[in-house]
Amino acid sequence: SPALTAAGVRDWLQRFATAVDTHASDLTDLDRPIGDSDHGVNLQRGMHAVLAALDAAEPATPGAALVKAGSTLVSTVGGASGPLLGTLLRRTGKALGDAESADGPAFAAALRAGLDAVVALGGAHVGDATLVDALAPAVEALEAGGSAQEAADAAARGAASTDELVARKGRASYLGERGIGQRDPGAASIALLIAALTEDAS
Ligand code: ADP
Ligand code: MG
Ligand code: MG
Repeated sequence: SPALTAAGVRDWLQRFATAVDTHASDLTDLDRPIGDSDHGVNLQRGMHAVLAALDAAEPATPGAALVKAGSTLVSTVGGASGPLLGTLLRRTGKALGDAESADGPAFAAALRAGLDAVVALGGAHVGDATLVDALAPAVEALEAGGSAQEAADAAARGAASTDELVARKGRASYLGERGIGQRDPGAASIALLIAALTEDAS
């Protein structure tokens, strides 16, 4: 895949924002039985703010674009997903430094740094039925040299894996075993974020 530039980051996040708009009510429906029915709305508000912030700041590097996007999510989304997704993007951006572009291995390593920051912040590990269950396999796929499509497939499988898990972090953990059979909304939105790396994401 081509090296990621600042414009490439904007295109990626534009595709993600479009997917969030398309799936907002689905994401909120996932958050209804196991949460507080706001996940889609939270991400919609955040991603509209992200696109506006990128248009205003016109960051010159992919790292700066991701730092701006992440900071904007942290400051505009009140729910758990804002600080977590914001930290993911911000730390991924910080890891890219001030390089003009990032090739596949550099992007995979940066996304790993973002994942590590999410784990440090939220304390969730694979199997706890959170967005980490979609993110970790996507990072592993990219580190193994996989394509964006392979990473998207890994994230989608990881999101589906949360159906049968008991949530151990976030609001859904209050339900215990009663949450079995429900997909984690944050994992579903991470699957959209990784799918948006591919050009034909919608
Ligand atoms: P809130 O729960 O505050 O309403 P959202 O509904 O926007 O926030 O986001 C909920 C999602 O956040 C969950 O589906 C889960 O994926 C993620 N999440 C919550 N807490 C954690 C955590 N400690 N670590 C990782 N992800 C978490
Ligand atoms: Mg919620
Ligand atoms: Mg909430």
